[in-house]
Amino acid sequence: MLVSHGPGTAVPSIMSLPFEPQNGPASLHALRHSVSHIMADAVLRIFPEAKVAIGPPIDHGFYYDFDLPRPLTEEDLPAIEAEMAKILKEGGEFVCSSMSREDAVARLSAAGQEYKVELLDDIPEGEEITFYDHGTWSDLCEGPHVETVKQIRTDGFKLLSVAGAYWRGNSDKAMLQRIYGTAWWSKKDLKKYLAYLEEIAQRDHRKLGRELDLFSLNPDFGAGLVFWHPKLGHVRRKLEDWWWELHEARDYWPVFTPHVAGEPVFRQSGHLQNYADMIWAPMDVDGRPHRVKPMNCPGHVTIFNSVRHSYRDLPRRFAELGTVYRYEPSGTLHGMLRVRGFTQDDAHIFCTQAQLADEIVDVLKLVDTILTTFGYEYTAYLATRPEKYLGTDDIWEHAMAALVEAAGRQELPLEDDPGGGVFYGPKIDFKIKDALGREWQGPTVQVDFNLPDRFDMQFNDADNELKRPVMVHRAIFGSMERFVGGLIEHFAAWFPVWICPTPVSVLPITEEQIPAAKELLDRIRAAGFRAVLKSDGPLRKRVRESELDKIPYMAVVGGREAENGEVNVRVHGVKEQKTLPVDDFITALIAKRASKSLEYALD
Ligand SMILES: [Zn+2]
Ligand SMILES: [Zn+2]
Repeated sequence: MLVSHGPGTAVPSIMSLPFEPQNGPASLHALRHSVSHIMADAVLRIFPEAKVAIGPPIDHGFYYDFDLPRPLTEEDLPAIEAEMAKILKEGGEFVCSSMSREDAVARLSAAGQEYKVELLDDIPEGEEITFYDHGTWSDLCEGPHVETVKQIRTDGFKLLSVAGAYWRGNSDKAMLQRIYGTAWWSKKDLKKYLAYLEEIAQRDHRKLGRELDLFSLNPDFGAGLVFWHPKLGHVRRKLEDWWWELHEARDYWPVFTPHVAGEPVFRQSGHLQNYADMIWAPMDVDGRPHRVKPMNCPGHVTIFNSVRHSYRDLPRRFAELGTVYRYEPSGTLHGMLRVRGFTQDDAHIFCTQAQLADEIVDVLKLVDTILTTFGYEYTAYLATRPEKYLGTDDIWEHAMAALVEAAGRQELPLEDDPGGGVFYGPKIDFKIKDALGREWQGPTVQVDFNLPDRFDMQFNDADNELKRPVMVHRAIFGSMERFVGGLIEHFAAWFPVWICPTPVSVLPITEEQIPAAKELLDRIRAAGFRAVLKSDGPLRKRVRESELDKIPYMAVVGGREAENGEVNVRVHGVKEQKTLPVDDFITALIAKRASKSLEYALD
């Protein structure tokens, strides 16, 4: 299946904030639109030769694009903010006026604002052309805006960053300077929002990945190819072991398929025709072009087709942690979230039409089990037939009905994603909401009536007729890279005990307790947890080191603890330290692991 790594999906956007701003989003929209005008006014006062392009409000802020004599840096922002403060002091009202097309062209041409003249062409004939003015500034704009400049608080906005942006997003056109800012009704809301942005920056998986030695990328190996370092390798192993357990219990069978296949395979599947620019370039083997696999489906179909099937064999469920390679433009690559090689937790179900709804129900249950284990909330979207599609309308209707029925049986509300289906079938996509209230692309379950046709898949039905099985593609983590990258940010790398790379550091207070500490270390390891002994230097330094390494439990062994078979435990996020028998501590860790607890606190 195609787990989309397309624009706007892999990299999370901040869809909602964990706090509610005063007033509604509609009024914030007007506020931000207005502040973007103030910013444009300020930039023009500093750079009188600047040309302005577009300046819309966006989620939580606004931006404006400028054609400037030199590129901007973040050091330019304070001066622009200061100029904006001056403009706010001057006051005035936002005044809307409409104008004929000729007058608008004349006005913008006289001002040398060629981008705005070009924007006029986008306004359909017969539609009103409006300008919003404040003070001496006038801007082609459809609004809405606040009424007076005074409504904008000097301490309620902030310019955040600059970036290059092509005019109309087209790399053949001029490179413009984009300034991003945010604006709120009050200083308090702005402060909250900036703190939120800071939290996002602190949790950035690329930053944590570097600091904690979790993963890396290496330009010599190639862009977008992830190296999993030992600690994150441990996290992944734990996830995979659990994933296999869950699947074995549901009668999925493990399969392994080649990473490379001759081109005819991907022509037969239709992927080469439909997704050519996403598949890595061909390599010549014995004069025949081969491709690294962009998806696992054809391999699973090949296994299914290698034997005859009776209706009694169905459903068949094949699972593979299958590594695939897809070409993503270099500008879109982003840490572990948008990559060129990744491992899908892929599975394909082959069943009869009558079995379809039951199969989907089982997948929905599995999705729930997996997502709630990490404390994720989620929303399901039903993606229906796109403009370009394969298969008949009948076939689409049947598949849609099965998805809707399954969701109904699970009491899972389905949001609409009209036309969002892939070309070969409808699907349910999940969006998951992380600890910061951001939405990420999550699991997907896709019905496919087309690959069975293209690969002429068959089973012998009860009436002794050969029939086509239905194929279901599904992935729950999606890609291990993206899911684990997301987990790093969700947990701020404070992983739950059951996947935590190093849950315990053992800290003897003095050298005298080193033997007792070593004994404790062995016992913790024997219980199946990784632990480290830190015995060098002052205790305070070792405590700090453990905290920086994001080790949730510090097991401190002093003279009395050594004597009594006890340990003094400091738990991350818990104020009081606790002295308890070593046995009880290990039992508590085992219980945390068994329940996949999201909490570190003991008891
Ligand atoms: Zn598939
Ligand atoms: Zn405007």
